Parts: sequence; C-alpha cells; structure tokens
Amino acid sequence: MLTEKEIDGILISQPENRLYLSGFDGSAGFLLITPQDTILATDFRYIEQAKRQAPGYEIFRITNDIAKWFPELVTSLKLKRLGFEAEHITFALYQRLSETLNKAQPQVELVSLGGLVESLRAIKEPEELELITRAVAIADNAFDYIEDKIHTGMSEKELAWEIEKFMREKGSETIPFEIIVASGPNSALPHAKPSLRKIQSREPVVIDIGTRCGGYSSDLSRTICPGTPDSTFNKVYATVLRAQIAAMDGIKEDMTGEQADRLARAVIEQAGYGEAFGHGLGHGIGLAPHELPRLGPGSAESLTSGMVFTIEPGIYLTGWGGVRIEDVVVMEDGKAKVISKARK
Ligand code: ZN
Repeated sequence: MLTEKEIDGILISQPENRLYLSGFDGSAGFLLITPQDTILATDFRYIEQAKRQAPGYEIFRITNDIAKWFPELVTSLKLKRLGFEAEHITFALYQRLSETLNKAQPQVELVSLGGLVESLRAIKEPEELELITRAVAIADNAFDYIEDKIHTGMSEKELAWEIEKFMREKGSETIPFEIIVASGPNSALPHAKPSLRKIQSREPVVIDIGTRCGGYSSDLSRTICPGTPDSTFNKVYATVLRAQIAAMDGIKEDMTGEQADRLARAVIEQAGYGEAFGHGLGHGIGLAPHELPRLGPGSAESLTSGMVFTIEPGIYLTGWGGVRIEDVVVMEDGKAKVISKARK
C-alpha cells in the first residue's frame, strides 16, 4: 500500500489503527512504518506495556515536544514522503509536525492519507470474527435477560443500568458506547440518551446495546412493546422487520453499500415510511463500534468476504416513537450470514 501511494513511510495516530497493526492498546503513541521498519513511539507511561504488547516493534521513547525527537527519527529512516492519517490528527499537531519537518534536512514532505488501515480492518480474520461472535453472544443473552426484567413504571435509566451490569458481569470488557433505552416518543430519536422517563404500557421501547470482547465490539438493537401493541406498532414493526429480512436475504458478494441499503429502503418506502428512515442501513463493526464498510445512500464500498457489519433499518415517527431492529452479519460464501440470535 505504501508503494501504491508513493510514500516511503506512514505515521499512524488513530488509536484503533495503532492497536490493529501493533497489538499495543495504550492510549498514546504513534506507529512509524516503512517497508523496512516498524517503530512504536510512545512516552514513559507506556514503555513497558509497549514492549510486552508489540514485540514486532522497535520501541522509541518520546516526549510532548515533537521538535526534540521527530526530525531525528524521520531523518534516520531516510524518509522523503511521509503519509499521515488526515482524519485523525488535530490541526495543532499537523502544524507542529510540518513546522519541525520544514526545518529538517533533507526536506520531508507530509502526504495526507485517509482510510488506508481502515480498509484493511474491514476484512476480518477468523480470530477477529471469533471475538466479535463472543461479544455478540453476550449482547444476545442480555436481551433474553431483560425480557423478564422490563416492566412498566421502570425508568429508561434503570433498565439501561440493569443491562450494563448484566453485560459487564457476563464478560464484556467495557461498553463500546452508551446504552440506548428510549421509550414512547423518545424512541423517535435514533440516538436518544436514557432518561428518567418511566416506561409505559403499549409503547415502543428501543434498546441498542454493545459489548466488547478482546477489544472487539458488538452492536445490537431490539424494539420491545410492554403490553399489547397498538395497530401502529404492529404495522411499523412488521415493516422494519420485512426491510431487514429483505436486506439479509438480498445482500450478495460485491454489492455496494448503497445497493444493500436500497434493498431495505425500498420496503420501507413502499409502506409509506420512506421519510422516516433517515439513517443508513448499517456499518462495519470491529475494534470500533462503527467502522468500514458503510451501508447507506452514496456508499460505493463493496461488500466482500470477511466483512462484518450491522443491518439496522428503522422507522422514526415524531411524537409517537420509533422501531429499530439491528443484527450483526458476516459476509461468507457470497452472502450475509447472521451472527446475532436475540429473539425478535
Ligand atoms: Zn449500529
């Protein structure tokens, strides 16, 4: 990839990319990779951890003052064109890097790059798939568990905490994002925060949860209705479920993210709810709970073997509420194979 991009080194600063390539999960440091060298530059706090976690890397101790170590390192590697992750670097850091490199002899050119490591991360290896499958199983079990726990009069926050406790006790390392429990009209907000609102009978409750195993995330949503659902709920739920199944059954190898999205969107549009499905169909999942590929309007990324992503159509009606159903699939034998098993 370095040759393709005509660069002779790359500076990795995005945390998940750093972890993916090196095994180092500390919260600060850079990787400097050339065709010959793999260097992990980090500060005093992480030196021991870096040695243990990234045996394939030469550990280079750094300080906050980039001018003190960066030019020397770059010159010793004889770099002329150095790629950096344009989307994961602050403007301030970019300025400091270019200022110090301008003074370096010979001159080093900074080359803006995007999505290089992310595109590698999109294709999962068997070990990665296994960790995701474990993370998904914990979330599946959490849905089983709350089916008995959820009751009217309970606040969204109380339910969210019950779920979080369960998932942590069952082995989720952290939770990769804040749990969503959104009841009644709150569920019309796709990314609502759990509130003190008490769950009532006959209203939709959208629950969106994630777990983490060995650094890898899961992401699952279900919509529950305590009591007997009304006719709106039945119609909206059935439409979302049909849309999801249309995508699960219709996705084929090499389809684009946009084509996959179309499969579900067509069902929702035909039912008259096109305007109420305002987000994309899904997203890749791995070290980050949202990563490549992107499934949605305008996504030209093709879905290929080994990719793991969510399929999560939704309908959101202001004032009434919403329904979202989200599962995790892996591209296998040219099709989308569903990993999650929680009841719908
Ligand atoms: Zn999701």
